[in-house]
Amino acid sequence: MSEIAKASGLIDGPQEVMDAAQFADVSGVTHVLRFDEALCTGCGLCEAFCPMEVIAMKDGSPVAVAAEACWGCETCSGQCPVHAIRIEAAPGAGCAAEPEEPAPPLDKETRDRYREWAAVLRDVLGLRWHPVAVSLIRAGEPLPDVPEPTERLRYCQALMAARRGRALMMPANRHACPDGTSILGLTPIPAKLASGELYILFHKLDSVEAAQRMVGERPSLPARSVRATVTCPLDDPRCKAEVVAVIGTPEQMMWLSMATSYYTGHRHDFHASGYNAQCVETTLLPLTTRKINISFGCYGCRASSDVDDAMMMMGIPVTLMDDVVRGLRELGKRAIPQSRDKVYLPPF
Ligand code: SF4
Ligand code: SF4
Repeated sequence: MSEIAKASGLIDGPQEVMDAAQFADVSGVTHVLRFDEALCTGCGLCEAFCPMEVIAMKDGSPVAVAAEACWGCETCSGQCPVHAIRIEAAPGAGCAAEPEEPAPPLDKETRDRYREWAAVLRDVLGLRWHPVAVSLIRAGEPLPDVPEPTERLRYCQALMAARRGRALMMPANRHACPDGTSILGLTPIPAKLASGELYILFHKLDSVEAAQRMVGERPSLPARSVRATVTCPLDDPRCKAEVVAVIGTPEQMMWLSMATSYYTGHRHDFHASGYNAQCVETTLLPLTTRKINISFGCYGCRASSDVDDAMMMMGIPVTLMDDVVRGLRELGKRAIPQSRDKVYLPPF
C-alpha cells in the first residue's frame, strides 16, 4: 500500500475482495442481457471482459449465467466486435428500497456559501460548466432528498451529469462501475478486478504484477462504509459537500492551483496516473489528504462520458474552498486578465 493511501488514515489494509456471485445481494436483478444470435460469432470476448462473471460460453454461445450479478457496466457490449449485445433495465429495476425519512435539507447559510463559491469559480475562471459538490453518505447516516437515476450510472458519469446541472444520489445498486464503487467504499472489490487480470485484457498495463501494484497503491474506503454518493451542481447543493470537483482546461487548473497557494506560497505534490481518475484522483485523494489534486482523466471516464479531450479535473477539499475562492478573487484582479490578454507577447 502506498504512503499516500496510508496517510489518509481511512485505509488500513487491502480492499475486501468478494466473489462475483455474492454481489447479487447488492445488486438485485437490474439488467437483462440479450444476445443477437444472428450477429454473434462466438468469440467469447464478452465472457472474458465481464468483471462480474455474469456471462459464460456454452456450446459456443454466450449465456447470462448470473444475471443477478450484472451491474449494467456495458463492458461486454462495448467490447463485442459485432454489437451483438443489448443490455436493458429489468422491470422494476429503478424502484427504491424501503422509503425512509430523508436527512434535513441543507441550511441556508451553507447553501448561500456554496453558491457564492460557484459564482466566483464560474466568473473568474470562465468555467463552461458547474463545479460539482461531492458528498459520500456514510453507513448509518440518513440519505438526503436527491433523486436517484432510473438506470445505473458510473460515478464519473454522475459527476459529469452534475457539471451539466443534474443532482444525483447513487446507492450501490445505482452504480454501474464495480471498480469505482468498491474504491468509494460502497462494496467490496470483485475478485476479477482485484486480481488485475482485466487490466491486462484491456492492454492498460503490461503485467499482472503491474496491475496488482496499481490496485494496491490506490486508496480506497473500507467496503460498506459508504451508503451513497451524492453529486450536485455547487450552486444547487442538497447536502454538505466534502469535495468540490472542477472540470476545466489546463489553464483554469493552473489558476486554481495558484489560488490554493496564494496565501502560503506552497507548491503542490499532485498524484495522477490516468487510472481511476474521478473516484480516486478527483474525489478520494482530496477527501482523505485534505489537499487539492489534479487528474488528467482516465480511460473509463473519457470512454463513458462527454468530457472534452481538452479538459482535465481538480478535486478541492471543502475545507480549503474559502481560501481558494479568496485567492482566486485576488488573481482575478490583475494576473488572470493580464495573462489572458497575452501582455508579454513578442511583436512578431
Ligand atoms: S453489463 Fe457489465 S456486469 Fe453486466 S454482463 Fe455486461 S460486462 Fe458483465
Ligand atoms: S463478444 Fe459478441 S460476438 Fe463475441 S461471443 Fe460475446 S456476443 Fe458473441
